[in-house]
Amino acid sequence: MTTHDVIVVGAGVTGLTAAWRLAQAGQDVLVLEARDRIGGRLRTEAHGAPGAEADFEIGGQWVSPDQDALLGILDELELPTYPRFREGESLYVDKTGVAHRFGEELPVGESTSAAIAQLTKTLDGLAAAMDPARPWELDDADHLDSVSFRAWLEQQCDDPVAVDNVALYIGPAMLTKPAHSFSALQAVQMAASAGSFSNLVDADVILDRRVVGGLQRVPLALASRLGDRVRLGQDVTLVEWDEDGAVVHVGNEIHAARRLVLAVPPTLVTRIRFSPELPAEHRIAREHQSFGLVIKVQAQYATPFWRADGLSGTGFAPWQLVHEVYDNTPEGEPRGMLVGFVSDERADAVGRLSESERRDRVLESLAAYFGDAALEPLTYVESDWQHQELTGGAYGTSFDLGGLTRWGAVLREPLGPIEFGSSDVAGHGFQHVDGAVRVGDEIAHRILADAT
Ligand code: FAD
Repeated sequence: MTTHDVIVVGAGVTGLTAAWRLAQAGQDVLVLEARDRIGGRLRTEAHGAPGAEADFEIGGQWVSPDQDALLGILDELELPTYPRFREGESLYVDKTGVAHRFGEELPVGESTSAAIAQLTKTLDGLAAAMDPARPWELDDADHLDSVSFRAWLEQQCDDPVAVDNVALYIGPAMLTKPAHSFSALQAVQMAASAGSFSNLVDADVILDRRVVGGLQRVPLALASRLGDRVRLGQDVTLVEWDEDGAVVHVGNEIHAARRLVLAVPPTLVTRIRFSPELPAEHRIAREHQSFGLVIKVQAQYATPFWRADGLSGTGFAPWQLVHEVYDNTPEGEPRGMLVGFVSDERADAVGRLSESERRDRVLESLAAYFGDAALEPLTYVESDWQHQELTGGAYGTSFDLGGLTRWGAVLREPLGPIEFGSSDVAGHGFQHVDGAVRVGDEIAHRILADAT
C-alpha cells in the first residue's frame, strides 16, 4: 500500500489542476488515471495519408476571452494561442435547404429577427440575475426548472423560426440535448456560465481562439510538471472511506490518503463502488445527470476553398444534420479544414448507420452549406466519445427536468474526506475547460484551507 496526502482520480484538466496546485503547496499527491493517456475529454490526434498527416482536435478546442481561469493557466504554462479564422460572410441554410450569405444579422426576416432579439433580451436578463454556481437560488427557479426550454420558448414567442433558432443555440449546440428534454432553468444556467446568452451565441466570443498544437497541451503540460506522481492505466473501482481518509483500490493495488478527489464526470462516480455506500442522495443526484450527445465531424480539403468565395466557413442551419459549421484550419496549414456538429436525436439516427453511410450523410449536409466541393475531402474524422465508457457522450452532463433545483447543490458537496468535481459541476465555465480549471482550483483551495 502507498500512502499520500491526497489522491486524485482522473487526469483530465480538473484533476490535474487540483493536483498541480496541491503539489505546488507541498502536498504529496498521487493521480490515478484509468485511460492509457492524459487529458480526458481533450485529445489531439494525427490523421491523414501516411507522410501527410495533420492534427485533429477530437475533443475540446476553443478558448473565449471571458474564460480567465483557462487564459490564466495558458499563460502560466506558456502555451500560445491563435484566433479562429472568421473573415468573410457566414451562411444560414433555411428550412427548405437554401443557403443564404450574411454578415452580422441572421437572414431570417424582420419580424423573426425582432422575436430573436426579444428572446435574447429575456435570456440575458435571467442570466444576469443568476449565479451560475447556484442556479437554484434564482427567483422563479422552481417554475423555470419544471418547464422544458422549448415549451418555455413557445410560451414567450409565437414565431416558430425564432424558437427553433434560439432552441438550437442551447439545445443541440451547447447541452447537445433536444430542447424539450432539459429545463428552462438549465438553459439559463448554460447562458449565465458564459456571462450571458449573447456571449454564448456569439461565435466570435465563445469560439474565439485555439491553442497552438491543440488544447490537450494544457493537461499534458500539467502532467509533465507532476511527473511520476501521475499513473496511467489505473481504473479505480472501489473506494473505502471514513472521516479520517480513504483507501482506493486499483486491481490488486491499494493506495491510502487523508483526502480523495474524484475528478470524474458525475455519471462516472456511480461506476465506482463505495464502502460504506454513498448516501442515497449523493447517488440519486448523479443518476439524474446524463451526457448530451454530439458527433464532432472534421473534413480536410486540399485548400480552404470557401475562403476564395468570400466565405468565413461559419454556418448555421437548425434543420440540417450538421447544425453548425466553422473553418477549423490550424494556423499556418495550407490545407483547409471544416468542423461541424451532429447533435442529439440526429446523432442517435446517424449513429445507427454504417460508417460510410454516415460519412455520406454528413458530407451531403456540408454540401448544403458549401456546395459539391464539400463532398470530396482528403481526410474525414469523427469523434466518438459516446462509445467510450470513461466518458460516455459529449460535451458534458446536465440534469433532466427538475433536477437542478432538486439535486444541483449535492453534486458539489464534499463527503467526509472526498471531494467531487469536473467541468460538469462548474458555475462559470460550465461544461468547458475553463470550468474544469476553476473546479480544480476550488477543490485544491478547500483542501489546503482544511490542512492548515
Ligand atoms: P474529463 O476530461 O472527462 O476527465 C475525467 C478523467 O477521469 C478522464 O481522463 C477519465 O478517463 C478519468 N476517469 C474516469 N473514471 C475513472 C476511474 N474510475 N478511475 C480513474 N480514472 C477515471 N470545452 C471547451 O472549453 N472548449 C471547446 O471547444 C470544447 N469542445 C468540446 C468538444 C468535444 C467533442 C468534447 C467531448 C468536449 C468539449 N469541451 C470543450 C468540453 C471539455 O473538453 C471538458 O469540459 C473538459 O475537458 C472536462 O475536463 P474534466 O477534467 O472535468 O473531465
